[in-house]
Amino acid sequence: MRDINIGKIVCLARTYKKHAEEMKSELPENPLLFLKPASSVIFNGETIVKPKMSNCLHHEVELGIVMGKKCKNISKNDALDYVLGYCLCLDITARDIQSEYKKKGWPWGISKCFDTFAPISNVVLREEVPNPNNLDILLKVNDKIKQASNTSNMIFSVEQIIEFISNIMTLEPGDLIMTGTPEGVGEIAKGDVIEASLGDICHLKIDVN
Ligand code: MG
Repeated sequence: MRDINIGKIVCLARTYKKHAEEMKSELPENPLLFLKPASSVIFNGETIVKPKMSNCLHHEVELGIVMGKKCKNISKNDALDYVLGYCLCLDITARDIQSEYKKKGWPWGISKCFDTFAPISNVVLREEVPNPNNLDILLKVNDKIKQASNTSNMIFSVEQIIEFISNIMTLEPGDLIMTGTPEGVGEIAKGDVIEASLGDICHLKIDVN
């Protein structure tokens, strides 16, 4: 994984109906996007560091799509040809900052952008994943299951997501798409151990400081 230079990170919000419900948010007609900087990436075995500005970090477990080829304005029928592979991502969120900024009508992007806020697993090549739209996704905190879903519950397919994003911005090799989280998000604190899995192909273990 360390061999892939992660470029921009394009994230989706509200792609699972039950997560939109738990956040009391409406489901969007088209993907809702925000960006995370590459500087927030950490890898398996590393540590999420709580920034001084926040007192409430949340876990969000997500399917990640790593792009393999440059593309722009592609159709969903061709979308998978441009994928290098898939991984498991955590979209760590400073929920207190996000909620406060949402209330004020301010852009809440910074709540997603702190260093260590994008732990990612090993990448499994596309050829080894017959259907990215049907993968179990699971997250445990201190051995307790907090999030358990399947990518078939996403309201957009991987192909639709790539089509939509590539019609806005050029996607380049190493760019990472975080496809949004299922329900069950919750707080993590110093000393917690987070373990997550994507089917039996990707695993991630991260602790919190
Ligand atoms: Mg997310």
